[in-house]
Amino acid sequence: MLMRKARRHGAHLLVAGIALPAVVLVGWITFVTADRLFGAEVVTRADAILSVQSATLERQLDKFRLLPPLLAQRPDVRALIAARDRDKGERTAAIAAGMAGADEVAFLDRQGVLIATSHLVPRLAIVYPQDIGPLPFAEALEGRLGRAYRQGTPQAPGSYVFASAVRDETGVIGVVAVRVSLAEVEQAWALTPAPIVAVDADGSIVASNRAEWRGQKLGTHVQATGPRTVRQRVAGESGRSGPGGEAGAMTVRINGDDRSAPYLMVDCTLPVLDWRIAAFADLSDAVSQARKATAIAVLLMLLLSGGAWVAADRRQAALRRMRENRLSALRLERKVRSRTRDLSEANRRLAEEVREREAAEAELRSMQADLVQAAKMATLGQMSAALSHEFNQPLAAIRSTADNARLFIEREKPERALSGLDRIVGMVERMAEISRILKGFSRRAGTDLKPTAVKPALDEAVMLLSPRLKQSGASLVIDPVDPSIRVLGGHVRLEQVLLNLVANALDAVEGRADGLVRVEVRTLEDGNVVIRVADNGPGIDADVMARVFDPFFTTKDVGKGLGLGLSIAYKIVHDFSGTLVAGAAPEGGAEFTVRLRAADAALDAAQ
Ligand code: ADP
Repeated sequence: MLMRKARRHGAHLLVAGIALPAVVLVGWITFVTADRLFGAEVVTRADAILSVQSATLERQLDKFRLLPPLLAQRPDVRALIAARDRDKGERTAAIAAGMAGADEVAFLDRQGVLIATSHLVPRLAIVYPQDIGPLPFAEALEGRLGRAYRQGTPQAPGSYVFASAVRDETGVIGVVAVRVSLAEVEQAWALTPAPIVAVDADGSIVASNRAEWRGQKLGTHVQATGPRTVRQRVAGESGRSGPGGEAGAMTVRINGDDRSAPYLMVDCTLPVLDWRIAAFADLSDAVSQARKATAIAVLLMLLLSGGAWVAADRRQAALRRMRENRLSALRLERKVRSRTRDLSEANRRLAEEVREREAAEAELRSMQADLVQAAKMATLGQMSAALSHEFNQPLAAIRSTADNARLFIEREKPERALSGLDRIVGMVERMAEISRILKGFSRRAGTDLKPTAVKPALDEAVMLLSPRLKQSGASLVIDPVDPSIRVLGGHVRLEQVLLNLVANALDAVEGRADGLVRVEVRTLEDGNVVIRVADNGPGIDADVMARVFDPFFTTKDVGKGLGLGLSIAYKIVHDFSGTLVAGAAPEGGAEFTVRLRAADAALDAAQ
């Protein structure tokens, strides 16, 4: 039972065992792959932003890099510095600033004191060294291009200052300074939604598209969540960063950003400026896309597993059905086999029984035939005494009549002798008739049915019984019989039936002074013939009545009755398709009624 259950659930366990790890594995692989793919896309995008935006910054600064040396070469500039001409200086500065698009152009003396500026508002004027430090000024005095970053505020973007020395024959007489605002760069960066920052060597933000970050340390806003991977950027990839520009990428979290998703930060150095530019790219899209892809993959896998489950279920059910069908077919086959066995056994028994019955019947038939014969012989035996008496009497009468006839002839009274001879002839004829009947009786009866006249059969029976009749002293009354009445049967057998019935009746009335036996033959309206044999004997008791037709049933003394007469009569009448019934006679004794089909009616029916 347990085994079957386990087998039944085997396919499901297999499906579950494969499906669950497969779902997890496919989910994990999908997530990792999608994360990598979408992450790579984010990196590419961030790289592109970084390249474009760092190029924007470099281009902006590059544009103004050469302006101070060019102005320093101009004789009018040299002259106005030498003369410390403020008005001219302001005009020249304003024109130069306006034409170049610089924020401010300023002329300073050798000590760094402002001579003139394009800005009319003095507080914005470039003042060395307090305002922007000594470095660019010193660099300019040394003959190089001085550079300095001027810190911005959350309200105003920072700016970059280029400075170049102005010389005459005597040497350095002053400095030309050009201030470039980073506002333009920041505006370009502002088109990108994610933060972009430029950070100086100290880690302070010098420019950003987030105004509030200006001047602050990058570390206060951004926290690394993963290791930084350093990549050597291919020359030209980042525009002007050139060889030696180091690039990196790392995942970070931006403080104050309410989204939990991390950002990707890609950065590269701008070697000339000693700045780093960092561009951020939101990873949340990539993460959510990776999650979506994972969810879809997991769902698909679940669907597949569900399908596999259903398929396993169906297969299981089909297998079960097949097994059940096979089982019931086997059961049926077994049942059919056992039934067939039983049937052939029953058949065999039946055949055996039929054989036994046939044998028994054959035996019975031969026994019956023997018995009929035996009964005849018994009847003959009974009759022989009476017959010898019957024959002796006429023989004695013939003898004396013949003696008398001789005497009459001797006395020449031939007419008396003749009458005696006539009597002798009559008696001989009668004896011959008795002998003829006895001869016929000893023959075996036939079995075929043919029209048989009732009267001769009855007459012969009475003839055979006449010695007993005489002995018993009973009277036999035979109602006149129509000689044309014929029944379907056989002469000898019919005679035997009547003989038996009349003999029994004579037996019954034996010893009675008024013994009466009555025989009646009638044709009924329906064409049947009825032969009635009645007596005024003691009749038949109820318990005897049920058995009178049984073979060997007799109430008579040993030696007198064999108990076969009625059973033989019964059988014969049935062979004639008739009936034989016993009952009470109006005369007071028993009455036997034989009902037979009239030969004419039977022939008519046959035709
Ligand atoms: P059996 O005459 O040798 O006894 P049967 O078969 O002829 O054998 O008769 C069976 C019995 O039926 C008789 O012994 C007798 O008791 C009864 N029986 C037959 N005929 C008569 C009759 N006419 N009256 C009374 N009893 C009869």
